[in-house]
Order: sequence, then structure tokens, then C-alpha cells
Amino acid sequence: MSERRSFGPREMHKAVCADCGKECDVPFVPKEGRPVYCRDCYTKHRKY
Ligand SMILES: [Zn+2]
Repeated sequence: MSERRSFGPREMHKAVCADCGKECDVPFVPKEGRPVYCRDCYTKHRKY
């Protein structure tokens, strides 16, 4: 049985942005020791 949800709620995890310190939700499990960035900071850091 396979259940397909095109727009089901994605599992979000609470995390604190390593850059601005803002609380944010990420669609993956934040790994310990790995910095998590909010959307803004993520795009910012991706450029480098
Ligand atoms: Zn941030």
C-alpha cells in the first residue's frame, strides 16, 4: 500500500538559526553539531 500525498503536511522540526538565533522550522532533523540556518540565512550562506 502506498499513500501519496501531494500536499500533506511536511514534518517540520524546531531549530534555532545558527546565524541570527531566530527560531525556525526545518524540513529535516537538525543534526547535533551542525549549524541550522533559517531561510534567510540559508540562502545567504549558500552563496559562499
Ligand atoms: Zn537566521
